[in-house]
Amino acid sequence: MPDLVEQPRDSAVEQLTHERRIATRKKYRETHKEQLREYGHKHNLEYYQKNKERLSLASKTRYLRRPEEIKCRQRFLQRKRFLDRKIDVLTHYGNGKCACVRCGESRPACLSIDHINGGGTQHIKSVGIGSNFYLWLQKNDYPDGLQTLCMNCQFVKRVENNEGIS
Ligand SMILES: [Zn+2]
Repeated sequence: MPDLVEQPRDSAVEQLTHERRIATRKKYRETHKEQLREYGHKHNLEYYQKNKERLSLASKTRYLRRPEEIKCRQRFLQRKRFLDRKIDVLTHYGNGKCACVRCGESRPACLSIDHINGGGTQHIKSVGIGSNFYLWLQKNDYPDGLQTLCMNCQFVKRVENNEGIS
């Protein structure tokens, strides 16, 4: 006859199992980023199409109830999307690190994308600045000829190339 009395669980073991489970999920999410994103988009789109009217009404109701809160959240999400995208792009052009390729500066606010052989102004004029520029780089599979530089190193580069600032 098996012992049916439940044994007290070892909380340390439980905690370890829980942490392992979280680590496994995190690893899966990291290695399957693209598939999960695609699946998410597809699933969201299907769900939206099926429930369009109900979702639209619910969204309008939510907004009318707390417009300031909703606007604040939208601004926060927009900023977060921008920063996530910027960090992805800076990391790509920083050779796997979100940092200046010359001096190692890693604060995102100090970093931007540099056109190694010039032509940046024209390029940005044609594709847009800020978020639009980063999005364009992602959509175009991160074209060559760019690097992550901090503003100091950009100024130093201009001096080295005799581009007017001393
Ligand atoms: Zn630098």
